[in-house]
Amino acid sequence: MSHQKYRPATLLVHQGKDRDSATGASTVPIYQASTYHHEAGVSGEYDYARSGNPSREQVEEAIALLEGGVRGFAYASGMTAIGSTLALLKSGDHLIASSDLYGGSWRFITGVLPQQGISFSLVDTTDVDAVKAAITPQTKALFLETPSNPMFQITDLRAMVQIAKENGLLSMLDNTFMTPLLQRPLDLGIDVTIHSATKFLGGHSDILAGLVATADAGLAKRLKYFQNAFGAVLAPFDSFLLSRGIKTLKVRMETAQTSAQTLAERLTAHPAVARVWFPGLDDFPGRELHFSQASGAGAVLSFELKEESQVKRLLEGVKLPIIAPSLGGVETILTHCWSMSHAAIPAEDKLRQGISKKLLRISVGIEDVEDLWEDLAAGLV
Ligand SMILES: *Cc1c(COP(=O)(O)O)cnc(C)c1O
Repeated sequence: MSHQKYRPATLLVHQGKDRDSATGASTVPIYQASTYHHEAGVSGEYDYARSGNPSREQVEEAIALLEGGVRGFAYASGMTAIGSTLALLKSGDHLIASSDLYGGSWRFITGVLPQQGISFSLVDTTDVDAVKAAITPQTKALFLETPSNPMFQITDLRAMVQIAKENGLLSMLDNTFMTPLLQRPLDLGIDVTIHSATKFLGGHSDILAGLVATADAGLAKRLKYFQNAFGAVLAPFDSFLLSRGIKTLKVRMETAQTSAQTLAERLTAHPAVARVWFPGLDDFPGRELHFSQASGAGAVLSFELKEESQVKRLLEGVKLPIIAPSLGGVETILTHCWSMSHAAIPAEDKLRQGISKKLLRISVGIEDVEDLWEDLAAGLV
């Protein structure tokens, strides 16, 4: 793989290949083909598009380089990336996963894995002793998310890696919220890092995509086998859009992160707001731990209103944000976690994790922060 020596901002722009080798074109073309001619019956570098496509390889090399892995994989969605990584487990295995998980991951782990004979425990992974106590002779992997979503629980990645190594467990981390620009889990010893590239990496709310990277050649070989066996690969056109989105990640993330800090501070001081969760706030409980393993707070924050009736007024009052599940776009996205991103999780489980009907999540976009604040403030009544 070329370009290994460059710093993240350069890698984001140049990725694995920065031009088309056949023509010198400034972008890798969209190779819209399902199969490849076998000259005189002999397969060349590519034989069939499920197994390999240059447009897809562009983003696969990009994520491997950005995460510091040996190999990357691109899938049709973040959930496919997660499902394909969890395919590393087999019947009889036990999985320990963070209890405060993305709703889709929760659905997959609780609804699909048991049918495959894989048991699970949802554990507060911020509690190192609780993770140790949940390990059984069948435990084979840890599935983590930090910061978690939407409650911004911070899991100690170094401690999790140590537990994984001592107990022969695979460690997997959903790095969607941070992106490799702010958090590089493979450097800390995590085995597999996973992204919903639908979010910050794609960055424009116009594709569904998933990415995976690993620094372990043996795992890479197995992941490649599953990717080809399942076949839910990222399409050439979506690969092109993702590659294009990745090029601007740094400028988008930095602008959004600065605005998120401003909004988090102003929301904290607002009389309609009961509490704000954002790693960039001085009194955020997991702040020190978060910044020991990540270089930024990110661009997503959660806040709770004082009264449930204020939620309806806010959702009716704001004009700029898209009101939707999802995050990481150039446009600000406001989510009512209870009914949108975490709708799949039963009410009692949501309440246990602190997700109330008064909780909202904002993924801050790159609009002018003053316009965003005026718009939000008008709805906070
Ligand atoms: C959106 C999301 C996913 C699922 O990704 P899709 O691209 O929607 O399939 C997984 N994890 C996190 C943290 C997410 O935000």
